Amino acid sequence: MATDAKPRRMGMYENVKNQFEKASEVMGLDDSLKKILALTNNEIVVHFPVKMDNGEVQVFTGYRVQHNNFLGPYKGGLRYHETVDLDAARALATWMTWKTSLAGLPYGGGKGGIQLDPKKYSQGELERITRRFTFALGDNIGPEHDIPAPDVNTNAQMMAWIADTYMSTKAPAERSKNQHVVTGKPVGSGGLEGRDRATGFGVVVTLEAWAKLRGTTLEGKKYIVQGFGNVGYWAAHFMNKNGAILVGVQDATGTIYNPDGMDPEDLLQYQKDNATIHGYTDHDFDGSKFFAIDCDIIIPAALGNQITDENAADIKAKVIAEGANGPTDTDGEAILLANGVEIIPDILCNSGGVIGSYYEWLQNRNGEIWYMEDVIAKLRRKLEEAFGKVVATSEQYKTDWRTAAYIVALVRIEMAYKQRGIFP
Ligand code: GLU
Repeated sequence: MATDAKPRRMGMYENVKNQFEKASEVMGLDDSLKKILALTNNEIVVHFPVKMDNGEVQVFTGYRVQHNNFLGPYKGGLRYHETVDLDAARALATWMTWKTSLAGLPYGGGKGGIQLDPKKYSQGELERITRRFTFALGDNIGPEHDIPAPDVNTNAQMMAWIADTYMSTKAPAERSKNQHVVTGKPVGSGGLEGRDRATGFGVVVTLEAWAKLRGTTLEGKKYIVQGFGNVGYWAAHFMNKNGAILVGVQDATGTIYNPDGMDPEDLLQYQKDNATIHGYTDHDFDGSKFFAIDCDIIIPAALGNQITDENAADIKAKVIAEGANGPTDTDGEAILLANGVEIIPDILCNSGGVIGSYYEWLQNRNGEIWYMEDVIAKLRRKLEEAFGKVVATSEQYKTDWRTAAYIVALVRIEMAYKQRGIFP
């Protein structure tokens, strides 16, 4: 099987540090706060054994990095992927702190996961791995302390196992009070209507806002998507509703291209039936040329460090909407900006997911059941508000959108630190 969407593991945290450095200089961030935020608060590494289907015991390594919780509990997903390590977890946790602050949520940032390829394990094995990982984390997570969610290769089913395992470790009368230890659960188990599509929907809301700002619409615009998982599919679904044309898709199973357009729903069905996107179009497309496809919009919705100095100069699109976390590295970004390509930065573009998680958390905490239409309307409002703040801040500081997004996030954290001071 081809692996076209190659993960480049080196330097994810280096990107975060570069981005943070730039923003703190542009805004003149308080020196003490710069020292605090340059490091993560806690880094939890657990090794835990799981019995495999063949009776053998395998020991796994799991991570949970808690970057900062000044604005509220640590929040962020769990990723199951071969590229998960401490560097990646640090980077992803730090991005969560900026993301939740920018969205105005009462959360900090955390992230974790397990270094494994879930395709190599049976459903039963994945259940035991997930439950044992939850048990190993113990009270390092908690509904008012650190709240995981889905990320790459993790889904609602796994969140249900996490909730069930965590709740099972509590005294019977306490169990139901702990349902919001994790978000992104199935709707029947405390999950929120609309959480499944929240990230992809959010990506498209930010693209609609971009189009409006540039005096155009998404109708007839050609776009490509890297990653056809939860974020990539739902983004394509909502782009389709706007009349945009999907001309290329790339994921770990292949790269497909059709200049006349593809139907995301039909492709989803093909992917379900064949466990690959490969073969959906007649001919193979050279995966290394994916980002050079002639299109207006690129939605990277897979892994980090995909747009780099190796391919950024070939990009013809006008805008990159970062559905993934950290898809553009520092060198790639410099080339894009010099070429006038706009970037809707990840901490804004994909924040619909964690905003949806916040609504699920509130729903559980208050014993409520929310309607899909209310979730969608609230999400849109929050994202449009954040987009407006980023654009205004970029004009105020005469800087790019990513740096502006960092500034909005950092100003909020800085204010809270100033109000409360440093204990003792
Ligand atoms: N994993 C998603 C992200 O990177 C969602 C996190 C959450 O909902 O807590 O933003």
